[in-house]
This record gives sequence, structure tokens and C-alpha cells, in this order.
Amino acid sequence: MTDPLSGLSGAILYDQVVPARAPWDQPVLKGQTLRMIDLEGNQAIDFLMYNLHDDAERYSAQDTIAAQANIFLRTGSVLLSNEGRPMATVLGSPVAYHDTIGGACSCESNTLRYGHHTKAQHSCVDNFLQANARRGRGKRDMVSNINWFMNVPVEADGALGIVDGISAPGLYVDMRAEMDLVAVVSNCPQINNPCNGFNPTPVRMIIAA
Ligand SMILES: [Zn+2]
Repeated sequence: MTDPLSGLSGAILYDQVVPARAPWDQPVLKGQTLRMIDLEGNQAIDFLMYNLHDDAERYSAQDTIAAQANIFLRTGSVLLSNEGRPMATVLGSPVAYHDTIGGACSCESNTLRYGHHTKAQHSCVDNFLQANARRGRGKRDMVSNINWFMNVPVEADGALGIVDGISAPGLYVDMRAEMDLVAVVSNCPQINNPCNGFNPTPVRMIIAA
């Protein structure tokens, strides 16, 4: 994408770079578009969202997968809440598909998969808890997340892979809010598998009216 704002109609309300490994959260109101840009390529954005006015309603990977009868998120996917209501729609993305079954990396999963020496490494769960704590949410509010730009194919035997990404520098995903929501992001700090190309990098978040 030569112009990172191209294709966005309406005023730019917010435009910020999220540093590598950092948490981020921001309200996105109904009708607004959130553009997430993978600035340097193959950077997983772990993503949760909650109803801005009642955060007991939040993103549901299960309901979204069941309703669209497909495990991948791509242009046209409607992201449902745990109450079965549309929270957001994927307006467009040049990346063929995005993941919502791979989960968020944590101290626990890192030590299980990669060994005890990874125990002190920063994780997406740390970022989610930090961002959520600003709005009074805790561990009970952690649910299955979206992994924008992450490639998690399902093998023939049902095994999940975490493999080299299919994103590239400057690629993006546009998501239109269908209700007032708060978007919560962990710019994934994982360095033990290829989800970030073993090199976490910044992403850019833009909200357009
Ligand atoms: Zn992660």
C-alpha cells in the first residue's frame, strides 16, 4: 500500500504506531473503521473486543466460526459476540485469511512448548491483562482472541500449525464496528515461533469516521 490512508472514507480520527511488543486499546464507535497495518510484515496482532457499554458482551470466536462455517477470517467475515450479535465486519484485507483459533501466547504456553528458559519472556496474555486492567477487567475477561496476520493452517490430521506468515510489509485489515466497542491489542512479542518472523515489529492503528 503506497498511501496508508488510501481507501478510507471519512475523517481520520486517530492514527498511532504501536511499538513492538506493546499493548494498545481504544474505543471504536459504531460505523467507524479501524485499519490495522502490518508495517514491516509478518507481525501478529492479537486482538480482543468488548461492547463499550457492557463488557460482559465480548468477541466470541466460537460463535463467529459456527455462523460462517469456516475457521478463517477474511473479507466479509462478521465478527460475532457471545450474544450472537455482530460486533464488527471485516471490510477488506489483501491478506488471504487471518486466524482466530491459535490463541494468545502466554507464560504457560511458552514454557510448555519452548522450555522453562522462556518463563520470563513477555507474552500476549501479559499485554491483554495490562490493557484490560485500565478499564477494570481481569483474568475472567480473557476469551479466545483473533490473530490478525497470523497463519495457523489446520493440517490433514487436524493438527494446528504456526507457520511462516502470509502477510507482507504494508498490508492491512479494515474492520468496521457494528456496535460501540473497545478494541484491545497485544502487538505479539513472541520470538519462539515464526508468527512474527522471530522479530516483533511495530504496527499502525488508524480509526476513520
Ligand atoms: Zn503472542
